[in-house]
Amino acid sequence: MKIAILSRNPRLYSTRRIVEAAQARHHEVRVIDHMKCYMDITSSNPAIWYEGEKLEGYDAVIPRIGASVTTYGAAVIRQFEMMGVYCLTGSIPLGRSRSKLRALQLLSRKGIGMPKTGFAHDVHNTRELIKLVGGAPLVVKLLEGTQGRGVVLAETIKAAESVIDAFCELKADFLVQEFIKEAGGSDVRCFVIGRKVVAAMERTAQSGEFRSNLHRGGSAEVTKLTPTERRTAIKAAQAMSLHVAGVDILRSARGPLVMEVNSSPGLRGIEESTGINVANKIIRFVEEHAKPLTLRGHAK
Ligand code: ADP
Ligand code: GLU
Repeated sequence: MKIAILSRNPRLYSTRRIVEAAQARHHEVRVIDHMKCYMDITSSNPAIWYEGEKLEGYDAVIPRIGASVTTYGAAVIRQFEMMGVYCLTGSIPLGRSRSKLRALQLLSRKGIGMPKTGFAHDVHNTRELIKLVGGAPLVVKLLEGTQGRGVVLAETIKAAESVIDAFCELKADFLVQEFIKEAGGSDVRCFVIGRKVVAAMERTAQSGEFRSNLHRGGSAEVTKLTPTERRTAIKAAQAMSLHVAGVDILRSARGPLVMEVNSSPGLRGIEESTGINVANKIIRFVEEHAKPLTLRGHAK
């Protein structure tokens, strides 16, 4: 197959691993910087151009779109979709997963467990909002934050009010969430491909820190999932229509609670902590689901 990986940096661990896995399976693979793609959307024949070259003949696209360029990245994916090219991560699922609010609303509609969460735009509702999620301690999160940035633990109602006031002042959108204390600074990353969790790791925060992100100095080790955790992760990925997803779960006293569904889950942490060749599993999934162009006929 001829596979394009949409990534800004071919040297990133995840990008490199997917390239290696594709080559090991004898595919023709190329890394394309989506931010350098330009598109012809005026004609009835959608096309994508890259450094003077028209991108043609691809059987599959594997998007690895960074959070800061979601809108443009989604437009590039949409263009490939209009050309009838199989995209492992669709433009709509990408958009869904990138908004914490939209993602949580979709999860709640499917009855998937999640921390009690509230959101508002206006500072006038602060007290009510805090009450809604059960008072302090609580977590306040910026809606567009990643890697644990903009995630704050407020130990008291007073602290929560100041954080919320500050976010409002900055005109930043945020949500408030009950603090799951019994998770003990750990969360579980479930790597979902299709209808399976192919690998899972438990991430634990550094001491003095409640955020377990690896970028914040958290450590990762392999973990065994309960059947409920496994089911929850798969349901969460499906609620977003993501074929590949990193589902982050908090282990709470009332069962697994989904915090977030990541549409470009990193491979380094999960491959290193579990020893599983996740990149290979991604390529195998693409092989099964992307029909070669010749079998597919023309784009709708
Ligand atoms: P980001 O998307 O920026 O990584 P998250 O929402 O995943 O932000 O939060 C970062 C980390 O903070 C999580 O991995 C988890 O360890 C911790 N955390 C987030 N929300 C809660 C919560 N409601 N209760 C307990 N810990 C939480
Ligand atoms: N982008 C990384 C991922 O999605 C973040 C990892 C982390 O900080 O926990 O896996």
